[in-house]
Amino acid sequence: MEAIILLGGPGAGKGTLAEDLKEKTPYIHVSTGNLLREAVKSGSELGKKVAPLLKSGQLVSDELVLGIIRERLKQEPSDAMFMFDGFPRTIDQAKGLQNILSELNGTITHVLNLEVPTDVLISRLCGRRICRTCGAIFNVVTMPPKEEGICDLDGGDLFQRTDDNKETVMNRLKVYQEFTEPLIEFYKKSGLIHSVNAAGSPVDAERSALDELAG
Ligand code: AMP
Repeated sequence: MEAIILLGGPGAGKGTLAEDLKEKTPYIHVSTGNLLREAVKSGSELGKKVAPLLKSGQLVSDELVLGIIRERLKQEPSDAMFMFDGFPRTIDQAKGLQNILSELNGTITHVLNLEVPTDVLISRLCGRRICRTCGAIFNVVTMPPKEEGICDLDGGDLFQRTDDNKETVMNRLKVYQEFTEPLIEFYKKSGLIHSVNAAGSPVDAERSALDELAG
């Protein structure tokens, strides 16, 4: 089992990059944010527990997230290749991941750090709109759909994530700086960090990520 990690602030483009890489590489996309949002939508006990945390941009407990990851990894064959998006988000999650991977004979090969200035993150998040049917991502300022509120690809309704409002965005950035940014140093020590310039278009970020994975 092999894994790569997509690291970067909220709005850095981890989800978009993961969707692009999924088409061109064997990596299986695992987004803890998506798994948690699905739990909220399903109305399960887990979903009810985490809903207020997601809404306010606070982190779900390490134990809970590591449990979700352990279950997800076990669903795939032992030679699967994973791409983590939004995980790990704390040093303890990173240590927990190492334990899970050593149990499963897995190793982390690359940590791609998506670099984007904070002001760009804020405008991306506040303007982000997502297609309800296909998940395509638009931005009312930088990448508006041809027709307001309608997906260019399949005509689906565009919606705004409940945590993409200004107040929650500022909180998510603070949480990122406090808990997740230290992971850059953590993975630098093991020589796994690769910088990806993600401040421009998704195509440029993808090219830079593919170069780093190949190099
Ligand atoms: P994301 O889609 O990655 O931006 O995640 C959305 C929200 O889900 C976050 O603001 C957290 O509330 C929660 N979340 C996602 N991944 C994690 C994680 N690895 N650890 C703790 N909370 C998480």
